[in-house]
Amino acid sequence: MKKIGGHKYIFIIGGVMSGVGKGVASSSLGTLLSAKGFRVNLVKVDPYLNVDAGTMNPTEHGEVFVLNSGLETDQDMGNYERFLGRDLTNDDYITSGMIYKHVIEKERALGYGGKCVEAIPHIRDEIVGRFEHSARTNKSDISILEIGGTVGDYQNVMFIEAARVLKMRHPDDVIFIMVSYLPTPGKLGEMKTRPTQHAVQQLASYGVNTDIIIARAETALDDRRKAKIAVACNIHTKCVISAPDIESIYDVPINFDQDHLGNIVLEALHISPRKTTDEFKTWKKMARGIKNSSNNQIDIAIVGKYFNTGDFTLTDAYLSVLEAIKFSAYAAGVKAVIHTVNARDFEKGKINYSSLDTYHGIIVPGGFGETGIEGKINVIRYARERGIPYFGLCYGMQLMTIEYARTVLGLKGATTAEINPLATHLLIDIMPEQKKKIAEVNYGGSMRLGLYTASIFKDTIAYEAYGADKKFTGKKNKKSKTLNNSLQIEERHRHRYEVNHEYVEQLEEAGLIFSGKSPDGMLMEIAELPRSKHPFFVGTQFHPEFLARPLAPHPLFTAFMKAAKKRKSQQSVSILEKDGPEEVLTTYTLAYKK
Ligand code: GLN
Repeated sequence: MKKIGGHKYIFIIGGVMSGVGKGVASSSLGTLLSAKGFRVNLVKVDPYLNVDAGTMNPTEHGEVFVLNSGLETDQDMGNYERFLGRDLTNDDYITSGMIYKHVIEKERALGYGGKCVEAIPHIRDEIVGRFEHSARTNKSDISILEIGGTVGDYQNVMFIEAARVLKMRHPDDVIFIMVSYLPTPGKLGEMKTRPTQHAVQQLASYGVNTDIIIARAETALDDRRKAKIAVACNIHTKCVISAPDIESIYDVPINFDQDHLGNIVLEALHISPRKTTDEFKTWKKMARGIKNSSNNQIDIAIVGKYFNTGDFTLTDAYLSVLEAIKFSAYAAGVKAVIHTVNARDFEKGKINYSSLDTYHGIIVPGGFGETGIEGKINVIRYARERGIPYFGLCYGMQLMTIEYARTVLGLKGATTAEINPLATHLLIDIMPEQKKKIAEVNYGGSMRLGLYTASIFKDTIAYEAYGADKKFTGKKNKKSKTLNNSLQIEERHRHRYEVNHEYVEQLEEAGLIFSGKSPDGMLMEIAELPRSKHPFFVGTQFHPEFLARPLAPHPLFTAFMKAAKKRKSQQSVSILEKDGPEEVLTTYTLAYKK
């Protein structure tokens, strides 16, 4: 079949309920179609009125994912980048807030020439324009646009309306995929299709017909249910794709491929399949590896605070950190078991610091505000003094510096201006330009955000890690001038505060190494202790997790996982030495039983 029409658009819409993996389904379709040789771009459409995701509480909305540009976006954007292996741009993220802000500002500037400005046509047409714009700037063959929320929500109606108009203008080029959920109520023990049928009808009431249904459920759909859905929803049975719960999200593109989703989509879009690329082979190998990687299990604690929502515990706030660990665990030949530890539980005495001994590595991830920080600082001290591999991400690096100042330099009450701007020892202070923003109550999108360059100095853990990884330094390094024989890297940032330059010399004299600095030497980007003092004690002012990809694990995470692996092997050796060979197994099992 020859290609009919122009640029192709696939809209992904949720049915029945949220949180069933629309983002992963969209990303996986992206991987699959890229593997078939098409240039694909993914767009996330969020119906909320926030202009970006930056001001939202991570316990409610999950991780805030930062792009190279500094735009603060939804966590699905992280999945898109990881599944496409490509950096996304501001054109790939749309919120209602952005649309309304733009239209209202244009109206204030007489941009509509005296017309009455209304949702239809002005808001709708602005949305259509953005859909087309992202396709153009990405120079793609196919756009996959995921509309946030669920069919029936009041908030996303305007986006569905814009998609309908696009379909009306280009009937051969636009299709709609519904990612729906099929519950199996415990008492009934039977998978129910009716909610999905209703969702499809609801979408039809907006003038939009569903072309393909991705049926999410605990288990696979049987043929009877597929046929039932097909008849009720007016689609071919082969267009009902079964998507049961699986262990690893990186298997989803492979499962979709087995169900021929790629070809079904291409047929609906009137284009012929192309040859599958070698990249898909690499993907399959990685997906298999991540899932089945070694039985050498490494226990990693994430000591944070954004875990609890009501009676439930969610790790969404640290999604990219979890994924970065997964990729690097595979690279280091281990399997990471993640333990979420609430920093406040240490403060309340609910858990003892000595429980940290059971972990092979500890991470204190990014965070804001006062809650749990004393617990985190004590955890860092414990990790430092007991030689447990420690990796601090952003706040985790700032608190690591504070701990060092308090314990090693003896600076009592050392803290960050974020907690107490009047404290005597402000180890972490606000950047001058940030002071103004706070005084003006300008919080949205105003932190130090996005990609910034750092110089990495020789003979450090950071230099060793980055230096060995061409994917991270290769291209960029050729372009940039080297400073003092240093390596130039670029990483994504999201913070308002910095290590106070006034304390840098003292900290360095006391043994803390700033192995990464901004090219002018003013901002501290990486702090670490030398290997002679600690196996791995490293903190980054940036968020390395945002650049970790399944096919390109982040070098610092990999170095951390290797250190954790070493701790485990050394622990077993020391147990061996202490107890003699016969007792090894039992002691070992006890030590790691939790
Ligand atoms: N709260 C700290 C700051 O704003 C750290 C931010 C973070 O961890 N992302 O500087």
